[in-house]
Amino acid sequence: MTVVHQHNARQQGELLPISDQDKDDCLRSSSAVHKQNILDLDRAALETWVMAMGEKRFRATQLMKWVHQLGEIDFQQMNNLSKNFRNQLEQTAVVQNLQVASDQRATDGTRKWLLQLDDGNLIETVFIPEDDRGTLCVSSQVGCALDCSFCATGRQGFNRNLTAGEIISQVWLAKRLLDETIPDEEKGSVYKITNVVMMGMGEPLLNFDNVVTAVRIMMDDFAYGLSKRRVTVSTAGVVPAMDRLADILDMRLAVSLHATDDALRNELVPLNKKYPLKELIAACHRFVDKQKSRYRITFEYVLLAGINDQPEHARELIHLLRGLPVLINLIPFNPFEGSGYKTSLPSVIKRFSEIINQAGITTVVRKTRGKDIDAACGQLAGKIRDRSRRSRRFEQPRFGMR
Ligand code: SAH
Repeated sequence: MTVVHQHNARQQGELLPISDQDKDDCLRSSSAVHKQNILDLDRAALETWVMAMGEKRFRATQLMKWVHQLGEIDFQQMNNLSKNFRNQLEQTAVVQNLQVASDQRATDGTRKWLLQLDDGNLIETVFIPEDDRGTLCVSSQVGCALDCSFCATGRQGFNRNLTAGEIISQVWLAKRLLDETIPDEEKGSVYKITNVVMMGMGEPLLNFDNVVTAVRIMMDDFAYGLSKRRVTVSTAGVVPAMDRLADILDMRLAVSLHATDDALRNELVPLNKKYPLKELIAACHRFVDKQKSRYRITFEYVLLAGINDQPEHARELIHLLRGLPVLINLIPFNPFEGSGYKTSLPSVIKRFSEIINQAGITTVVRKTRGKDIDAACGQLAGKIRDRSRRSRRFEQPRFGMR
């Protein structure tokens, strides 16, 4: 029997049988002519690509505007490009978007899209309208390898990285779908994308190059034009990648902390065994020092009842983050079936945030949005096609109630 490797650093050596469907797909794709997906290219790459076709550099920005700002996918409609170039584009390129498998709307206006990739895998993207902003929560991987114990995405295991085009397609599609459907009763909220957070499925910094390309497109004035203040990459703490990111992009960083001592963090965020708190916090200091904008780092902290939500944890948090420009985002745990954790009581959350606020640190308790459509943090499950052994293992609840 033929076997294939899963692309998963943590599950190296785990072999999966290849299905007949996969074999068919391989045969079909090998006979197809490979076309360049324009969504995969940031401005620099697009310039190189158009110049290799004998065109002037500025054709790249024209093309970017057509595709990202105007949403045009038919090259023949791009009427400021020469007929010859349009024909060339038609033969060699494509604007390949994801398929919308479902489009759900919560009572609070939150939208969740289940998007299907070429290989049948499904990912999720969420839009959260607020009074003063509209935030798109974007996925970076199919599943996640990090296996954080309180996160639904981790339960399904890891399948693969998204391409830059698959990441930016989430923004492309959301922009169009939002424009089409702004219901009257939601006119009070901002219904366009003003902010992007890489807080969907996956660990963005383990898909570094594709995430950086996609973020560059988000911030490009010829594409989505979001300011660096409005694009946030969230990481569980991949220390070397945080250093690399600080070197090449000025933007906002969020760090998923969740615990103030290594023993507990090892349990909640197993990546901590590789990059323990001391190294993570040192990397945060380096990140701020290197960034021109010196934005505060957002620390995300999921409150799990009886586990990390006591006053002493709040005091340890203050101590740990001393000297760093920070903003703390407290996230009440969003439950999902078989998680084994409980949400902290509102009074406990209030006490926790008061202790931190009193120390002069800005603290926000994140509102749970999109509850009725499972769109909240940590509830994005999507569906991966080649279910790994790990995900089957987790079909049974792993943790007892604590
Ligand atoms: N891997 C990245 C991106 C995921 S972002 C990271 O860890 O930062 C999603 C955020 O939601 C993270 O802060 C994550 O810890 C948090 N989260 C995951 N599961 C959750 C849950 N069940 N309830 C509340 N927050 C959760």
